[in-house]
Amino acid sequence: MRPPTPIIERFLSKINISTTHFYKNTACWEWIAWINKNGYCHITLKGKGILTHRFIYEYWYGELTPHLTIDHLCRVRHCVNPLHLEQVPYRVNILRGETLAAINSRKTHCKRGHEFTPENTYSYPNDARGCRICINLNARQRYAKNPEKEILRYKTYLQKNRDLINRKKRETYSNNKLKKQE
Ligand SMILES: [Zn+2]
Ligand SMILES: [Zn+2]
Repeated sequence: MRPPTPIIERFLSKINISTTHFYKNTACWEWIAWINKNGYCHITLKGKGILTHRFIYEYWYGELTPHLTIDHLCRVRHCVNPLHLEQVPYRVNILRGETLAAINSRKTHCKRGHEFTPENTYSYPNDARGCRICINLNARQRYAKNPEKEILRYKTYLQKNRDLINRKKRETYSNNKLKKQE
């Protein structure tokens, strides 16, 4: 039996040296394999998914410091060039993140104060996050007002978005698995 390919070799086979994205005159290493809905990528080691930027940071610089998060200096989330990665306290990472979506995606509670736990987070087909408690509450209120209309609304939504919803389910499942292991 052939020995398994070392992880660093597999890693290097999945990157493309960018000709469009740079940070301080060094090119981004763009991940060309699977990228999750948040724009991050992972590599499998012993059957487990590891976020690629965490993997390469550890490989290149040594151990990761607890309570610090890795920031992409180049702001390209699927970049895995270790020279573009820096360990920073969580808050710095939020302030550096440029988009409202980036900030929103890190919010821990919905506007009514329910926590975005993996169980309570619904991912809409357009990638927006929803609070399941609020979604259910709203649906019950609409149903109480007009049951037939609400059932029809729900059926149409499912029909229209069936493929997307199934894809989301699979992604959420693998993301939750990744999170548990971090
Ligand atoms: Zn980069
Ligand atoms: Zn809520």
